[in-house]
Amino acid sequence: NKYIVIKAQIDGKPQENDFEVKTQPFSLSVKPGSNDIIIKNLYVSIDPYQINRMKTVSSSQKASEFAVGISPGEAIDAYGVGRVVASDNPKFEKDDYVVGLISWGEYSISQGFILNKLDPMGFPLTYHVGLLGLSGLTAYSGLFEICKPKKGEKVFVSAASGSVGNLVGQYAKLFGCYVVGCAGSPNKVKLLKEKLGFDEVFNYKEESDLNSTLQRYFPDGIDIYFDNVGGEMLEAAVSNMNSHGRVALCGIISEYTNVIKRATPDLLNVIYKRITIQGFLAGDYLHLFPEFVTTTVDHLQTGKIHVLEDVSVGLESIPSAFVGLFRGDNVGKKIVQVSED
Ligand code: NDP
Repeated sequence: NKYIVIKAQIDGKPQENDFEVKTQPFSLSVKPGSNDIIIKNLYVSIDPYQINRMKTVSSSQKASEFAVGISPGEAIDAYGVGRVVASDNPKFEKDDYVVGLISWGEYSISQGFILNKLDPMGFPLTYHVGLLGLSGLTAYSGLFEICKPKKGEKVFVSAASGSVGNLVGQYAKLFGCYVVGCAGSPNKVKLLKEKLGFDEVFNYKEESDLNSTLQRYFPDGIDIYFDNVGGEMLEAAVSNMNSHGRVALCGIISEYTNVIKRATPDLLNVIYKRITIQGFLAGDYLHLFPEFVTTTVDHLQTGKIHVLEDVSVGLESIPSAFVGLFRGDNVGKKIVQVSED
C-alpha cells in the first residue's frame, strides 16, 4: 500500500517537499472477527483544514476530536469515495461503493467509523466527494441554518470560486439573494460572473483597501457574510455589515498558515449593529443531509447548479494538490483520483 505522509510537523505554508510517499506491505484480506473493511480508495478530498492537523500543537491548544493531530510517517485520513475490496463488517459487502473517512493512500482499512454505503444515484463519483458530500453540506447548512437568508438580502462570500464558496453563492442566488463574491484571479472572477451567475465578483488581490471595495459593492451594506478566509476580509466585512447582519464563520484559510496575523474585527460595531458572528461545523448538521441531497439533486437535474470541481490524477499528485489550496490553484472542489474504479 502506497500512502502520503508528512515528513515533520508543518508550521508555516506547506511545501510539496514536506510530504513523501511511503510504501508498506498490506493484506487485501480481512481477519474473521475483526470487523474490518478494506477499501480501494478511488477519489480523495483535498481540504484546507488538514493543515491545522499537521501543525505542532502545544498541550494548551490540543487538536479537537474532529481534527486530531497528524504525526509524521502516519497515514492521513481524509474524506473520499472508495470501493470495498474485502469486508468482515456486516454493514458492508465486497464491491460496495463507500463514502466517508478513508485516507490519502491506495487502500484504507476501516471499521466503519464515519463511513457509509454510497448509492451514486447515476452521478459521477466525484460529485459525492464535493457537491453532494461534505463541501455541499457545509455550504447548505452554513447558509440556511447559520445565516438564515431572506429573499433580496445582500450576501457576500469569500473564496467564492472554492468548493464551499461557489455553492454558497449558487444556493444564495437560487434562493433570491443578491450575491457578491471575491476570488483570487481574473479567470475565477470571470467564471463566477459568467457561468455561475454571481451578481458581482472582485479579485481581492487587486484591491488595496478592502473596506472601500466592500463599500463600493455594497453601498447599502451587507446582510450576510459567509466567511471562508478570516483575516483582513473578515475585518472589512464586519465593518460593512448592516444591523442584525449575520456572519457565518466557516473557515479562516488566510490565518491557517500565518500564525501572526489574526482578524481583529471592530467589536463595538458588532454590538451597536447587533451582528451575529457564528462559527459552525458541517458535521453538526448531518441530520440535514437528506434534505440537502434532495434539494441539490433537484437543482442538478434542472440544470440550475453548475458543478465546479478540479480533479488531479494519481496518488503522487496529492502534495501539490494540497499545497495548491493555499496558493489558490484550485477552481472548485479539489479532488485527487487515486485509482480507477
Ligand atoms: P477551497 O476550495 O475554497 O480552497 C481554498 C481557496 O481559498 C483557494 O482556492 C484560494 O482561492 C483561497 N485562499 C487560499 N489562501 C487564501 C488567503 N490567504 N486569503 C484568501 N483566500 C485564500 O476550500 P474549501 O471550499 O474546501 O474550504 C473553504 C473554507 O471553508 C476553508 O477555510 C475551510 O477550512 C472551511 N471549511 C469549513 C468547514 C466547516 O465545517 N466549518 C467544512 C469545510 C471547509 P482564491 O483564488 O480566492 O485565493
